[in-house]
Amino acid sequence: MHVVTVIGNRPQFVKAAAVSRALRAEHDELLVHTGQHHDDELSTVFVEELGVPRPERELGIHGGTNTEQTARMLAALGPLLATERPDVLLVYGDTNSTLAGGLAAAQARIPVAHVEAGMRSFDRAMPEELNRVLTDHLSDLLLCPSETAVANLEHEQAAGRIELVGDVMVDVALLFQPRALADTASLHRAGVEPGGYVLVTAHRAGNVDDPGRLRLLVDLLLALPVPAVLPLHPRTRARLEAAGWLAELEAAPDVRLQPPLGYLEFTSLLGHARAVLTASGGVQKEAYLAGVPCVTMRDTTEWVETVAAGWNVLVDLDATAAVAALDRRPPAKRPPLYGDGRAGPRVVAALAGVPAAR
Ligand code: UDP
Repeated sequence: MHVVTVIGNRPQFVKAAAVSRALRAEHDELLVHTGQHHDDELSTVFVEELGVPRPERELGIHGGTNTEQTARMLAALGPLLATERPDVLLVYGDTNSTLAGGLAAAQARIPVAHVEAGMRSFDRAMPEELNRVLTDHLSDLLLCPSETAVANLEHEQAAGRIELVGDVMVDVALLFQPRALADTASLHRAGVEPGGYVLVTAHRAGNVDDPGRLRLLVDLLLALPVPAVLPLHPRTRARLEAAGWLAELEAAPDVRLQPPLGYLEFTSLLGHARAVLTASGGVQKEAYLAGVPCVTMRDTTEWVETVAAGWNVLVDLDATAAVAALDRRPPAKRPPLYGDGRAGPRVVAALAGVPAAR
């Protein structure tokens, strides 16, 4: 089978780490990196660390509005798919790269397999939600991380074949967590002790693009009762600089700004944290897997099971609610929610059942 996989941003490199090697053991894969995340620290670091194959094609497309970026990706992917004529096109998650890959293939009548299908926040104001819904409804094979995702797709009467495979990020977390936890160099560098800090990520457009929301985020960080370690995404850094608030955070003694980190360093900081404060879907899930309470700076989440299990609290950008949530004791139980760490091989097996190109 000839598979073209389209990835473009940080979590997609992590997800590809669970699938690409297993895929290449049985099939022929061409990995296309759209360039959506072009900084090395958000992309190539994972090639080296997690063993993701080096992308065979780099489209170098980044910047612009979501619409422009998606359009440029579509324009580049059309000719590429016409030449490659893969048996299946594989995409992950909910980014512009996901939608562009899926749509370019569907229009060329190439079957589409979507990993992380069926996730919903039910908030159409999120560009990611539009990308998810549209990709699911043009896909032939819908590979779901959870039973909730399966139920969402059944409810929407999605046309593709639905399979519950588990979450590919769980594969990666289970594989790398022990090694990551054993190395605490990233804690020393940030000047924190195990259990004595909150690990923060904050880069969702809805939290940083609007200066009013960004200010709420800064105030929330300044209100935290324990040191906060914050690997700063380039988007957030740029927005803070533009608003003139970066220096304020740099000067705050209990906010430890870091560059974006590699997966192992980040996973070590996450596993040893007292709690995680984030708006990232992947990080909410990784906190659950690591048994670290999570406070989510959104008012919706796709990872609803983590909230129902009592390990995740949604606070949006409300500082008082965030401080109260950080004070909660974690529940006694942490049932396995997102699979057994063998989602990658199940994705590969499912591809064999994809309908032939039309
Ligand atoms: N991550 C990382 N270094 C960091 C921050 C995050 O390796 O400094 C990893 C994290 O472990 C997770 C993924 O990147 O696997 C999440 O990416 P991101 O938060 O960019 O994605 P989102 O979930 O917001 O789409």
